[in-house]
Amino acid sequence: MDLSYIINEMAEDREHYFNAVAPPIMQTSNFSFKTVDGLRQAFADEMGGYLYSRGLNPTVDILRRKLSALDGAEDCLVFGSGAAAIFAPVLAHVKSGDHLISVRQPYSWAQRMFDNLLPRFGVQTTYVDGRSIANFEAALQPNTTFIYLESPNSWTYELQDLAAVAALARPRGITTLIDNSYCTPLYQQPIALGIDLAMQTATKYIGGHSDTLGGVVSGTHAAMRRIFESEYLTVGSGIQPFNAWLLLRGLRTLPMRLEKISRTTEAVVAFLKQHPRIGRLLFPFDKDFPQYELAQKQMTGACGLLTFTLKDGTVESITKFCEALKHIQMAVSWGGYESLVIPRCAGIAPADFDAANEGHQYIRLYAGLEEADYLIKDLEQALAV
Ligand SMILES: *Cc1c(COP(=O)(O)O)cnc(C)c1O
Repeated sequence: MDLSYIINEMAEDREHYFNAVAPPIMQTSNFSFKTVDGLRQAFADEMGGYLYSRGLNPTVDILRRKLSALDGAEDCLVFGSGAAAIFAPVLAHVKSGDHLISVRQPYSWAQRMFDNLLPRFGVQTTYVDGRSIANFEAALQPNTTFIYLESPNSWTYELQDLAAVAALARPRGITTLIDNSYCTPLYQQPIALGIDLAMQTATKYIGGHSDTLGGVVSGTHAAMRRIFESEYLTVGSGIQPFNAWLLLRGLRTLPMRLEKISRTTEAVVAFLKQHPRIGRLLFPFDKDFPQYELAQKQMTGACGLLTFTLKDGTVESITKFCEALKHIQMAVSWGGYESLVIPRCAGIAPADFDAANEGHQYIRLYAGLEEADYLIKDLEQALAV
């Protein structure tokens, strides 16, 4: 399907709302019925129409149809956050006694779910180094029902061979889910590679303006109905109409924002690589990246996030560098218009900082929509401090 059609036209029934070019925000909690039978039908199949906005809502549905088309999926569900879009599909596919395989160091709140929440309900998780398919195979147990992927992840960009994982899981009836936030469906199509469920946080690139949260999970009609009728409605973590509207607005410029960020990231990577104070640099489309070939094979783009270390990777020098930045802000999140930096050591108690552990020295940079020169100048002056 044409990307321009999906973003500009698909699911926008403008004649139903005065030919307004921008869709209305259907800020309503409920929908009324003329007949008892109509209401009965809505109760019987809440996914078949509008009853109550904890279920379906027309503004959310415009976004929903576009996002599932972007994923090349039959359907999707849109949540109030990315974390909710992880929680609901995982919860929908595991039961007490099940075993789950996750890539090591997944998104932090996914890891908390695996470590703290699921064990309370008798679901155990094994973490694997997902760079080798043999590690997934070795971790399989008779009760493995779910494989959780994140490729690339958002700090070290480790990849999994998605087609290989799908080929391992499908014949065994194991459900696979990927956190595809780094690439978005524009730069990676996990469902075409055989992954069952493609999830992304919409807070980052889809929204693109650092002003709302959201999340999405895509898959078959049957899989979405299963999640909708249980976890989606029960937990009540669907997105609000106004936030869906903000995401629709962000979506209009997604392709051009990613293009621009790709060019900027390339320039920033080239600058950092030649700088004498930089130690390690991690970026999946950098030729020196350990999984560069796999990245080229299954991703059509990479941009925005990259990680580096300073040769002098003490907490003091990392702190000085981060605090010396004048334009690049220090904050969590990414995917917005503004460039950001975050040092790993901010999440580590000073007494636990291990100077020999490269991971403790990581500084993650997100390149936003500023001009590359503007960012490079800021990095240059901060590296000179
Ligand atoms: C931010 C993020 C999430 C969670 O999304 P929220 O919208 O913040 O809940 C999940 N995965 C990745 C990779 C993220 O960066």
